[in-house]
Amino acid sequence: AKYVYDFTEGNRNLKDLLGGKGANLAEMTNLGLPVPPGFTITTDACRHYLAAGVVPDGLEQEVAEHLDALEKQMGRRLGQADDPLLVSVRSGAKFSMPGMMETVLNIGLNDESVHGLAKQAGGNDRFAWDSYRRLIQMFGKTVLGIDGDLFEHALDTLKGKRQDTDLDAGELQGLVETFKGIVHEQTGKDFPTDPREQMRLAVMAVFDSWNAPRAILYRRQERIPADLGTAVNIVAMVFGNVGNDSGTGVAFTRDPGTGRQGIYGDYLQNAQGEDVVAGIRNTIPLEELERIDKRSYDELLGIMETLENHYRDLCDIEFTIERGKLWMLQTRVGKRTAAAAFCIATQLVDQGLITIDEAVTRVTGDQLAQLMFPRFDGGADKKKIAKGMNASPGAAVGKAVFCSERAVELSEQGEDVILVRRETNPDDLSGMIAAKGILTSRGGKTSHAAVVARGMGKTCVCGAEELEVSTSEGRFTAPGGVVVSEGDVISIDGTSGEIYLGEVPVVDSAVVEYFEGAEPEDELVKAVDRIMSHADSVRRLGVRANADTPDDAARARRFGGQGIGLCRTEHMFLGERRQLVEDLVLASTDEARQAALDALEPLQKADFTEIFRAMDGNPVTIRLIDPPLHEFLPDIVDLSVKVATDGATDKDRKLLAAVKRLHEQNPMLGLRGVRLGLVIPGLFAMQVRAIAQAAKEVPGARPEIMIPLVAAVQELESVREEAAKILAETGVEALIGTMIEVPRAALTAAQIAEAAEFFSFGTNDLTQMTWGFSRDDVESAFFSRYLDQGIFGVSPFETLDREGVGRLIRIAVEEGRSTRPDLHLGICGEHGGDPDSVHFCHDVGLDYVSCSPFRIPIARLEAGRAAL
Ligand code: ADP
Ligand code: MG
Ligand code: MG
Repeated sequence: AKYVYDFTEGNRNLKDLLGGKGANLAEMTNLGLPVPPGFTITTDACRHYLAAGVVPDGLEQEVAEHLDALEKQMGRRLGQADDPLLVSVRSGAKFSMPGMMETVLNIGLNDESVHGLAKQAGGNDRFAWDSYRRLIQMFGKTVLGIDGDLFEHALDTLKGKRQDTDLDAGELQGLVETFKGIVHEQTGKDFPTDPREQMRLAVMAVFDSWNAPRAILYRRQERIPADLGTAVNIVAMVFGNVGNDSGTGVAFTRDPGTGRQGIYGDYLQNAQGEDVVAGIRNTIPLEELERIDKRSYDELLGIMETLENHYRDLCDIEFTIERGKLWMLQTRVGKRTAAAAFCIATQLVDQGLITIDEAVTRVTGDQLAQLMFPRFDGGADKKKIAKGMNASPGAAVGKAVFCSERAVELSEQGEDVILVRRETNPDDLSGMIAAKGILTSRGGKTSHAAVVARGMGKTCVCGAEELEVSTSEGRFTAPGGVVVSEGDVISIDGTSGEIYLGEVPVVDSAVVEYFEGAEPEDELVKAVDRIMSHADSVRRLGVRANADTPDDAARARRFGGQGIGLCRTEHMFLGERRQLVEDLVLASTDEARQAALDALEPLQKADFTEIFRAMDGNPVTIRLIDPPLHEFLPDIVDLSVKVATDGATDKDRKLLAAVKRLHEQNPMLGLRGVRLGLVIPGLFAMQVRAIAQAAKEVPGARPEIMIPLVAAVQELESVREEAAKILAETGVEALIGTMIEVPRAALTAAQIAEAAEFFSFGTNDLTQMTWGFSRDDVESAFFSRYLDQGIFGVSPFETLDREGVGRLIRIAVEEGRSTRPDLHLGICGEHGGDPDSVHFCHDVGLDYVSCSPFRIPIARLEAGRAAL
């Protein structure tokens, strides 16, 4: 195996093997840019070392050969006493992990070669001793594992109020002695003076730094695989610390915050490596380099342009100037904000560097989502009182309220409110809709509050456990005894999870205003507009909305939704209509039941009429009632208390009996969905009639009737027959189809497709049933542990589990189409708005995805990206 690549041998496509830094150093070398010579030890070697505990056979030999070649090229030997070559030993993994791993500079210095280095620099003793003390400091910390503060402290004591550049050669020489003392004291050994031994130890330390705790943590957060390993780059040293004609800097080829072209960078004279970012002295803006060293400055600008044109993207760079000579030490395609990503992508199209197709692939749905949330004004004064989980991004300000009714009341009076609950449940929906934001003290990122809030695009901080919430007293207590009572203004940041007392000013998202219909004006919105239009023109997947109300339906249209993929009907039975549902449940005769249904029908019809109007000729998939009936009845505890007191009515007692009768151990697996339709005569028929009547009233209405929770074709057949009859009687045309959300339905899709004109994958339930866990219960119980242990990298409720749930979907798609080739296929679980899941839906051949109105633009963009 080949474990070592000279910079002249690599290129930027070899990131897997050479790491990002090594691959790009090679790329720059081959572009003819001034890169100090060097070579890269591959990630293969690192993986071998980490697995076996020893470096692979032949590595040392290969390194020695490359070092020989480097020494020949440079005309000096590593650490040679009278004229030393020095090198840096630098980590560099495939994905950049800024500051997470180790690098050691000035390898090759010892008590003899320090004098040789001074001679090289024209008798500059100060510079040589400064380099030597840096080596001991970095080597001591990184390779020998000594607490870096010990060195820092010694340096600070020596400096006093002076800057590091004020130390003279004698003082730095003294500091070297002090540092050597620290090494001896801490390790019981002398600082290693053999240059090759220094290098060998540094290489292994870089390998080991892959598994440093902070690196592990970073990878977990950024979802970088744990087994990639790092490459190691050995680079001939160039020196920015020789004097004021030298220095080091970092720069971006354009502004990573806005994408604007210009000079963005920092420079520090007479400094080395990390000094710029470590903040040891104040840096100067890069523009000022023009005054200090115009030749190097001009050359640098030229190189930045070369790099942009070559990488066709924003690059960031590290450079050093040694006595008027510019050296490039690193480049990579730079990180940027979401706003900059959109602007840069379209700027590059205008510059002719990339195509508009490429521009679409350069931005992500997650970045678009970030642009859609309002934000707190970063510069404002804030009084933070607690922190919870950042469940749904955005910034919300309002009066704290502790129940839904109050939230609705105040918002109707034009007040902004934040709904504060211990946790929310479906009954809080009206309050959640009325509120600007939602704050809970319990529950994780997939708790009811979090999921619903995200679906609505509403700011939510959940699980703020530091808060003592008392809904009955209408107040909460935060750490430090801060009490917030109903009506007190609070501000919550769903992007960071932070909670503030009082009003923090909010800035609106221009991108949302654009989706709402505003003309694109600023550069960012114009960029979003261009990219969205192109994504729409290339995508194959349709995008529909999960929308239950006319308002949501209308927003869905404005946001580009091409219909409704899921219109839930259950919330249409809440509020004042509960009464009628109670009557339905309590009905002891056919007449009584029919009377209750008859009372519900016109209300349902009105619901649908409005939604059909809002959808304006686009398809509307209506799911017949799905949840267990007891969800519509009063709480068992409340009711028991009531029945035990004097004021209870006969109906209360009957209701309590019904609640007890309908109580289920596992409601998720109980009497719900199609099962309900089969057990309660007339319920589904009433809904279908309401749909048909409404469709007749709205010209062009395109209803699709969807039966939930089907597991066997027989269930579907009997409901379908009844529905088809009603449609025929009213003369309305509508597709009849089913959700695929029970694994058995996926596995028997060929049969089910014979009775269904469409499938819509209900991936929330399908995920629950495939994994065998109930979302409401597992979240707080063990999900965080599963994520920590890497059992899954991301919650399967957030991103569709391709291997398991995805496999079932694949089976259902293939088998369903085998018996009905024109079977229409969509997805209506929350995954429909998740970027990775959208790509899966494209790959597996669905016709559309359906998601909450607010996520429609994200799904449109990702569907476009998936098609490219
Ligand atoms: P990181 O990945 O943390 O940026 P680097 O390997 O890039 O670490 O190195 C740390 C610092 O040392 C950077 O500022 C880099 O430019 C500088 N540096 C690395 N190698 C050399 C070298 N051969 N000569 C001069 N400076 C170097
Ligand atoms: Mg670097
Ligand atoms: Mg379901």
